[in-house]
Formats: sequence, structure tokens, C-alpha cells
Amino acid sequence: MPGRPGRPLGRGRAAARGTGAVMTDDRRPTLAVWKFASCDGCQLTLLDCEDELLAIAGRIDIAYFLEASSATGAGPYDLSLVEGSVTTPADAERIRHVRNVSRRLVTIGACATAGGIQALRDFADVAEFRAAVYARPEYIDTLAESTAISRNVPVDFELRGCPIDRGQLIEVITAFLAGRRPDIPDHSVCFACKRRSVVCLPVARGIPCLGPVTHAGCGALCPAYGRGCYGCFGPSGSVNLPALIPVLRRDGMSDADVVRVLRTFNAASPEFAEASKRIEENSEPEEGTP
Ligand code: SF4
Ligand code: SF4
Repeated sequence: MPGRPGRPLGRGRAAARGTGAVMTDDRRPTLAVWKFASCDGCQLTLLDCEDELLAIAGRIDIAYFLEASSATGAGPYDLSLVEGSVTTPADAERIRHVRNVSRRLVTIGACATAGGIQALRDFADVAEFRAAVYARPEYIDTLAESTAISRNVPVDFELRGCPIDRGQLIEVITAFLAGRRPDIPDHSVCFACKRRSVVCLPVARGIPCLGPVTHAGCGALCPAYGRGCYGCFGPSGSVNLPALIPVLRRDGMSDADVVRVLRTFNAASPEFAEASKRIEENSEPEEGTP
């Protein structure tokens, strides 16, 4: 982020304000886990770490994690993990407080790193959505956009995925505890296909796939089962959507299909949002649409 000290921990996706260990004195470092607008799936990934979490718990003091315990320790905290996006004026204020009480702040998951599925409001009229969903919309205090945490406060690292991968989460936590750069490559899902010897779906079977523009982390889960990637880890570090979109069309997707696949969990990531808007602006409306 502009004007922030330190060098990036990871290319493109990660922004660091320093690479030192999260603490330097003799006490155990403290961990806090915060929830904003989200489904809790990424926090559940942390709970799902089981054995690894026990080992980590021996080295850190889990001071604030309401999903796991109502007992809370006072801040400031050495490492904060933040799940969810900012969708209300209260969220916007609370994330500034979280930043102020956190020595390092890592955002986890598509909601926190790209605004999540709730960012579909960014492409529509939020007042219309509110009126359609709630019986008394006047009681709902919401912002017009759902924004990534990094659009509100400086963050030290962004971990992508919907939900995040548990191995990558453990890597990020241990890296911050050790004061080293997390080993999270920002290459595409295609690399994982090659590693697993998965035959390329578009090349061999004409199946549309967002793998070439999607951040690795899932181990090429969908292509391994013959299904095209739909981008749940968000954009990789080397996105070239203008090159991929003609291939998606060749493999049978209409412009409306392409817009739809780009507007899921990472709809508001700059790369996916820009491409989907460009297609919409340049497309003829499909038959039957207003
Ligand atoms: S199947 Fe998809 S993710 Fe895998 S190599 Fe082909 S384009 Fe890339
Ligand atoms: S949609 Fe793409 S990134 Fe998500 S699990 Fe499937 S292959 Fe992985």
C-alpha cells in the first residue's frame, strides 16, 4: 500500500510492514481471530487444523477467538487473523480498532481479500437488494459496497481462498511466528495441474477453466475431478484475462456465462471486476433479458 514501510512478503498479493518475528521478548506471542461479513468457513478451517493447532497452541497464546472460546484476553495482539469484508459503517470503524491493537494483521479468505460473494452489491443498486430481501429495509444500515480489508486499513499479508487451504494457513502462522516470509507462491492453478499430472481440460477436452488466471492453493481440486476451475482462490499474480476470455468463448461460454463465472466469491477483485465490467459494456443483451 502507498507509503507503507517494509518490503512485500509475497509478490502482488502480500503486503508487509515488516518481516521480523511477531514478538521479541520472552512471553508467548498472542493470536487474535476476528470476524467481519463472512460465513465463518475460514475460521472453521483454523479449527479444522486439529493436530497442528494443538502444536501451535503450545507456542502461542490464543487470546481472542470467539468461534472457539468466549474467554478473551486483552490486546494488543501480536498476530491478528481477519475473516470477512467491511459492509457496514460499524465494520469500517471496528477494523480500524483491530488494526490499532494488532502488531501484524493477516486477512484470510475471499471475503477479507476481495469482498466476497456479498460484493455482488457493488454491481447493483444496494437499496434494491435491501428492499427485496428485508421486510423492513429501513432498519438495515449497510454500505453500498463490500470491501476487502486492505481497502480499509494496511494489512501485512493476504491469504486467498474460499475457504482458505489449511496447509497454507499453518504456513502463514508459523512464518509470522518465525519472522520469515510465508512460502505461498502466487502462481496459477495450472501449475498444480502439472504437478498432479492432471491433463489440461481446455486443451484435451474443450472444458472451460479459470485455472490459468486463478491463484494456486487448492491443489487443482476441480480439474482433478474433470471440472473446470471457477476461480474460488481469486486472481493469481500473473492474470491475463484478455487472453483467456476468447478461449472460454471457444469452449462454449457466452458473454453472460463469463460474467457470471467472474462474479462469484472474488467478484470485486480488481482483475475479475474490471474484466466482467468490460464484457458487460461491450456485449449485446441476450434474448429475453431486459
Ligand atoms: S485444467 Fe485448467 S487449471 Fe489445469 S492446466 Fe488446464 S487450464 Fe490450467
Ligand atoms: S474453483 Fe478453482 S481454485 Fe477453487 S477449488 Fe476448484 S480448482 Fe481450486
